[in-house]
Amino acid sequence: MFAEEVNLAGYTTLRLGGPARRFVEATTEAELVAAVRAADGEGEPVLVLGGGSNLVVSDDGFPGTVIHIGTRGTERVGGEGDTVHVRVQAGEDWDPFVARCVSDGLAGIECLSGIPGRVGATPIQNVGAYGQDVSETIVEVRAYDREARALVTLDRDACRFTYRHSVFKGNDRYLVLDVTYALREAEESQPVAYAELAKRLGVGVGERVTLKEARDAVLELRRGKGMVLDAADPDSRSAGSFFTNPILDGGQIAELERRVAERLGPDARFPRYPESGGRVKTSAAWLIDRAGFAKGHALGPARISTKHTLALTNPGGARTADLLALAREVRGGVRAAFGIELVNEPVLVGITL
Ligand SMILES: Cc1cc2nc3c(=O)[nH]c(=O)nc-3n(C[C@H](O)[C@H](O)[C@H](O)COP(=O)(O)OP(=O)(O)OC[C@H]3O[C@@H](n4cnc5c(N)ncnc54)[C@H](O)[C@@H]3O)c2cc1C
Repeated sequence: MFAEEVNLAGYTTLRLGGPARRFVEATTEAELVAAVRAADGEGEPVLVLGGGSNLVVSDDGFPGTVIHIGTRGTERVGGEGDTVHVRVQAGEDWDPFVARCVSDGLAGIECLSGIPGRVGATPIQNVGAYGQDVSETIVEVRAYDREARALVTLDRDACRFTYRHSVFKGNDRYLVLDVTYALREAEESQPVAYAELAKRLGVGVGERVTLKEARDAVLELRRGKGMVLDAADPDSRSAGSFFTNPILDGGQIAELERRVAERLGPDARFPRYPESGGRVKTSAAWLIDRAGFAKGHALGPARISTKHTLALTNPGGARTADLLALAREVRGGVRAAFGIELVNEPVLVGITL
């Protein structure tokens, strides 16, 4: 399908974004590659669109071709022992795939239940939640390389996964065509690695539960935070977490300790999760909250979710400019209070923060 002047607000979970000059719906790999090749040949900007759940698009829209990924298909392609390799086309919806794995007794992605979007986007920011991320299960990613103008296969190392990042994020070199995951045939989950989830399940960190128990508990926790798409829940009209959790080195840790003590008292401590090289990850939600932005804080028609400090929402009637103004207010408040520069997690199209 090919169309002109398609409003992108209808394709993003924030319900924001102006028109795309051209819009191509591609349902086969050949159509996908042909569409991107044609646009590249004309020097036309390209925006690859999956479920639109990690995108903030300008009110002015996109002055080029949007290619909407609609390829479907899942197949077992090998594995050994109790490990099964499953190759999934980029246009498959992520959560129905997770649900099928859980009911088929395939472990490894059960804690990633309820995340919106399509499979092809999961390697982009190394999608993760509740103690799992896709870098743990991805074996390889097949892609069209727009620089080399060739089909390429990237193994896990070549994907260069880190926290909410990969070789794919921040550039548009690769069009992801399919992703292969290594899953374990098992009735039990991977060891539960996230304290809040373990508590909800009534087990200790490191213990296992059934795949279904893990999925159900994650969905329940996510619903309580407005982190499952729900037309009846305006708090879910978001792009998920708007800011990544900052990772701090030694100097930054000492500076944050000083600022926290100054602002919140000598006994106050900020959350810290160990990272490599002596660094620690802290919680963006904690910083935002302690900088004075409570859940439900609004600036014009854009609002912090009433259930989750890290989600900026369009409960209805907002424009992208309104959401950006709120994001800048929050980022500026955290900078002033704690000297930390928050970084946006969603991909910004035609706008800067
Ligand atoms: C309510 C809610 C909760 C969320 N919770 C989480 C969470 O817990 N953890 C988490 O990590 N994320 C979360 N997210 C963010 C989002 O769901 C994920 O990042 C998801 O993987 C995005 O998929 P998508 O298909 O919607 O991508 P899109 O938003 O369509 O695209 C995102 C980026 O990926 C690129 N892209 C998409 N598909 C391809 C492809 N095939 N090839 C090349 N580039 C591509 C796009 O160009 C864009 O740059 C949440 C979002 C919402 C709305």
